Amino acid sequence: MTAEIIDGKAFAATVREKVAGHVARLKEKHGITPGLAVVLVGEDPASQVYVRSKGKQTVEVGMNSYEHKLDADTSEADLLSLIDQLNNDPAVHGILVQLPLPDHLNSDLVINSIDPVKDVDGFHISNVGLLGTGQKSMVPCTPLGCLMMLRDRHGSLSGLNAVVLGRSNIVGKPMAQLLLGDSCTVTIAHSRTKDLPEVVRGADIVVAAVGRPQMVPGDWIKPGATVIDVGINRIEKPEGGTRLVGDVDFASAGAVAGAITPVPGGVGPMTIACLLANTLTACCRANALAEPDGLTA
Ligand code: NDP
Repeated sequence: MTAEIIDGKAFAATVREKVAGHVARLKEKHGITPGLAVVLVGEDPASQVYVRSKGKQTVEVGMNSYEHKLDADTSEADLLSLIDQLNNDPAVHGILVQLPLPDHLNSDLVINSIDPVKDVDGFHISNVGLLGTGQKSMVPCTPLGCLMMLRDRHGSLSGLNAVVLGRSNIVGKPMAQLLLGDSCTVTIAHSRTKDLPEVVRGADIVVAAVGRPQMVPGDWIKPGATVIDVGINRIEKPEGGTRLVGDVDFASAGAVAGAITPVPGGVGPMTIACLLANTLTACCRANALAEPDGLTA
């Protein structure tokens, strides 16, 4: 392993520290406490774990956490009515509806019913448009976390060749927009891309978000490149049991790259840290106060 390992766990801790410091000042100077409402519909076990973790970390940085757990058969009208209530609640600065929603609910309709200024996941169509046109928006948490780690390593990203593997609305596309906003030359690759290894070999920055275990080997990586591995995949261990791996083959890529994020302990911890950062940003904007430095795109 020659690459520097980018420690997302430690980085996320510094983000949470910054958020906590700013929250303390908001309370002291202005008597304002940022509040995050998380809505969970149904009992998906992974979603329950995420929601618990989000609630715990929200409280740890000094914010108010409001959890709304609804039955799996909740009607769309009832869910929309709850969102309307949260949109109009001045104590709630951020609203997150945990995805995926049960099949009978229209996710696009639900997400687009959130007030865009409270849309801390950055999935509302207005925020997507604002990001795409280079305007101030709420930025999706996972790509924001990746951007923070890249800026920390490189300083300026201007002129670097970036390849984003994956074109999903929650990771690939917003990641590409953020890199473009920082003046990278951006290529978005996907399942139909021709000669993917050659495309990736041209990249100074590789962001892998495909959801395919260890798909990117070391011989696709340009020597010295920075590799951000968003993938979270569970695979069987030869000796029994399972383990988490990314979309990049960590051992072979780490022997060539200049820096690489591990899985677990890379991008994952940054996602919730950025959710807290977005909630703080939303609160500052709602109160026409200065936004914290280094916590937004
Ligand atoms: P999606 O399944 O929505 O998108 C996957 C993308 O990868 C698609 O654009 C698809 O292309 C592309 N792709 C699939 N197979 C290939 C291939 N063989 N070659 C090239 N491109 C391919 O996934 P998400 O974006 O939601 O998530 C990606 C990964 O990131 C997952 O492992 C997920 O668990 C993880 N994740 C991690 C988060 C974190 O906090 N760390 C947060 C969110 C996601 P096409 O469009 O052509 O089908």
